[in-house]
Amino acid sequence: MSTSRRQFLANTGKATLAVGLSQILPANILLAQQQATIGFTQQPLPYAFNALEPVIDALTMELHYTKHAAAYAKALNEAIVAEKVGTTTTLEQLLGNISKYSTKMRNNGGGHYNHELFWSTMQAPQANNAPYGKLADAINASFGSFATFQTKLSDAAKARFGSGWAWLVITPNKQLVVTSTPNQDNPLMDVAEVKGTPLLGLDVWEHAYYLKYQNKRADYIQNWFQVIHWQQVAARYEAAL
Ligand code: MN
Repeated sequence: MSTSRRQFLANTGKATLAVGLSQILPANILLAQQQATIGFTQQPLPYAFNALEPVIDALTMELHYTKHAAAYAKALNEAIVAEKVGTTTTLEQLLGNISKYSTKMRNNGGGHYNHELFWSTMQAPQANNAPYGKLADAINASFGSFATFQTKLSDAAKARFGSGWAWLVITPNKQLVVTSTPNQDNPLMDVAEVKGTPLLGLDVWEHAYYLKYQNKRADYIQNWFQVIHWQQVAARYEAAL
């Protein structure tokens, strides 16, 4: 049985378990369990391609999910077989040791992880979209205010030259920081300048916005704050604490 097949079965088992637990656990705990690890196979998009309109158009979502992200997942699984990654290794562990593997593993392991996180932390546009509860308190404590955090993340995304990502990260010391990475790197990687667990990531590759926004990356960044799924981000925060 292939690694991806085993991973698929493992994920299926987790999904079954989550359904059983859903009768007794609050939603945020279930979300935290589901978000604790990201598997090696592409999960179904948790909404329709047009769900994020008008912020992100349906054609961009369809191409991004079915072509770009699917290609990362496929190439990651090729690299896992070629480089004999053990079947008990998690994607998070693999990324934490990424300097020991090929460029193909780095680009596609990061590409797969980053997109799975990206899909899961977005939802239909929300008016006055903002974090709440413990995560909001932590953002205020770390950045001064939610508005200042938005500015920092936007600036990191705008300043990323070429392709890459901007991140909200919780460091091993449990501090919230904003950072950005080139290409498909991410803060889980041992090669990252700023290391930690990504809570939220913004894809600023041109494939993420060019059909609708053309060269106006700043407009895409500004609008994207409407589709952040703060409940999911909070669940990742709780899981990382
Ligand atoms: Mn992308």
